[in-house]
Amino acid sequence: MVKDTKFYDILGVPATATDAQLKSAYKKGALKYHPDKNAHNPEAADKFKELSHAYEVLSDQQKRQVYDQYGEEGLESGGAAGGMNAEDLFAQFFGGGGAFGGMFGGGMREQGPKKARTIHHVHKVGLEDIYRGKVSKLALQKSVICPACDGRGGKEGAVRQCTGCSGSGMKTMLRQMGPMIQRFQTVCPDCQGEGEIIRERDRCKRCMGKKTVVERKVLHVHVDKGVKNGHKIEFRGEGDQTPGVLPGDVVFEIEQKPHARFQRKDDDLFYQADIDLLTALAGGTINIEHLDDRWLSVVVAPGEPITPGLIKVIKGQGMPSFRHHDYGNLYIRFDVKFPQGHELQNLQLLEQVLPPRLSQQQPPSDSMVEDYPLEDIDASQSAQARAQGANYDDEEEDGVPAGAERMQCASQ
Ligand SMILES: [Zn+2]
Ligand SMILES: [Zn+2]
Repeated sequence: MVKDTKFYDILGVPATATDAQLKSAYKKGALKYHPDKNAHNPEAADKFKELSHAYEVLSDQQKRQVYDQYGEEGLESGGAAGGMNAEDLFAQFFGGGGAFGGMFGGGMREQGPKKARTIHHVHKVGLEDIYRGKVSKLALQKSVICPACDGRGGKEGAVRQCTGCSGSGMKTMLRQMGPMIQRFQTVCPDCQGEGEIIRERDRCKRCMGKKTVVERKVLHVHVDKGVKNGHKIEFRGEGDQTPGVLPGDVVFEIEQKPHARFQRKDDDLFYQADIDLLTALAGGTINIEHLDDRWLSVVVAPGEPITPGLIKVIKGQGMPSFRHHDYGNLYIRFDVKFPQGHELQNLQLLEQVLPPRLSQQQPPSDSMVEDYPLEDIDASQSAQARAQGANYDDEEEDGVPAGAERMQCASQ
C-alpha cells in the first residue's frame, strides 16, 4: 500500500489510479482552479498549486514510486527539488494555445521530450552599461555529460540493465492482504531505481558512476543598449545536462542597479539640479555628468527665472530606446537654494532689480496698530506646531492623530 494518500486525495483519485485517470483529474482541477479564472479567490491559487504539485509528482513514474514508498518526505530528500512551477506545468499540459486564449507564450510542448532544469540568474547592471551597451562574461557551474564515459557511468559494456526491474527502476510486487492479492509498485531494491547496475570496479573514475560532471562555462551575455529592467536573456540548451533528457536552458534576468544621479522611467532620465538664487534669476551654467563620460553644459538664460520645483527638458538626452535608434528625454527638476542671511549685502540694490513689493492692505485710519517682530521657532515648538496643525486636518488613523508620529520624528 502507499504510505500516504495525500497527493491522490488532492487529485480526487484512488491510489491505484492509472496515468490516464491522473491526467484527467489534473486537467479538470487545473481548469477549475486556474488563477486566471479565480481572480478574487486566493484559496483557488493555493489549490491550483497543490494540484499541480501532486500531479507533477504522480505523473512521473519515478517520483510516484518514491512518494508511494516514503511519502512526501521521501520526495524532499530525493529528486523533487526544483519542482516545476504550477503555471509552467499548466502551460506544458495545455500547450501554448492556452486553455484561456493563448496567455502562455510557450510552444506546444505537451508530452514532449523531458528537459533538464532551467538555471536562473539575476544579472545586475549599472545605468552606464545600459546606456552604452556591453557584453558581460558570466561564468556558471553546470552538470555536463561525463566525457570519460559518455554518460554511461562506467566502461563500455560494464553497465548492465538491472534484471530485477528490466531497467525501469521500478518493480511490481504482490502482497497478500487477507483474501485479496494487492499489486503495488516499488523502487527496485536491486538498483535503487537506477534501472541499471555497474560493478564497483567498472565504475567511471571521472564521474564515479554519476554520469555527469560539473563544468565551469563562460557565457557572453549581451546587455543591449536601453535594455529594460526585468528583460530576460535566454541561452537554450546551455543549462544542465542529464543522460536521456534535453539539456536545460540558462536564463539571465537584467536588473538595473539604482543610480546616484539619474532616475530612469522607460527611456527618459530624470535629474535633480540644485541651483543658487542668483543663477535662478540672473542665469548661469550648470554641468551635468552624463552616462557615457560626456558632460552636458546647460545654460540657464538670464531673465527667465527658474522657480523651485520647475521641470525643464533636454530632448534626446535620455536613454537609448531598446532596439530602436532614438533616445528618450532628460528631464531636469530644479531646486533653488536660497542664500543665508549673512551672505546678503547691499539688499537695497534689489529694489532696482526686482519688481516693487506687493502693496499691503492698509488698516483703516481709526484702527489700533501694534508692531510685532517675527521670531524663529525652535525644534520642539515647531514639532508642536505641526502636531497641532495635524489636528485640524482629518488624518486620523486608528485614533492616533497623524501628528503624533511626526512629533516623535522631530524630537529625535
Ligand atoms: Zn564518467
Ligand atoms: Zn532494478
